[in-house]
Amino acid sequence: MLNIVIFGAPGSGKGTQSERIVAKYGINHISTGDVLRAEIKNGTELGKTAKGYIDQGQLLPDNFIVDMLASTLDGLKDSKGVIFDGFPRTIAQAEALKKMLAERNQSVSIMLDLEVPEDELMTRLLLRGQQSGRADDNEETIRKRLTVYHSQTAPLIDWYKQEELYCHINGLGELERITGDICEAIDKVK
Ligand code: AMP
Repeated sequence: MLNIVIFGAPGSGKGTQSERIVAKYGINHISTGDVLRAEIKNGTELGKTAKGYIDQGQLLPDNFIVDMLASTLDGLKDSKGVIFDGFPRTIAQAEALKKMLAERNQSVSIMLDLEVPEDELMTRLLLRGQQSGRADDNEETIRKRLTVYHSQTAPLIDWYKQEELYCHINGLGELERITGDICEAIDKVK
């Protein structure tokens, strides 16, 4: 089983690269942001709770996300592995993921940290906001999300270094080069 954590600030290219990895390795893609947006669209209770946090650029409480992820994982049948996109975002979530996988006799194979300079992140997200109309891709909310990333999510870099799963990827430049670097890293742990 190939369990990949794709990591990085908002706008670092996690979603785009995940699609390419899924196509190449035939694994499942779990994006917690996509799951939450689907819940909002379907008007569920979870979606109603999630909307308040997402619109404010804040993270949902860990227990919500961890329970949601556990049921998504349980729904996968005959999976060759998973790419986790937008999860974990806190140390508590990383610990929960480790435990959840261990209970299924699995573990994280690699954590890929897509690093992109802050001014480029802002440019990409503002453009995405214009193209996709995502409500949280406006300048004020993007700034909040970046602050949340630095305070709550970036500490995971050291956490995964300690776990000896960390792999840095330069996320600035040609899409093909970035995908190539990612595949090279994955092929080493496969
Ligand atoms: P994303 O599409 O990954 O950028 O996520 C959009 C928003 O969904 C985030 O700004 C959070 O409000 C929420 N969200 C997504 N994943 C998580 C997570 N792992 N933990 C807490 N909140 C999350």
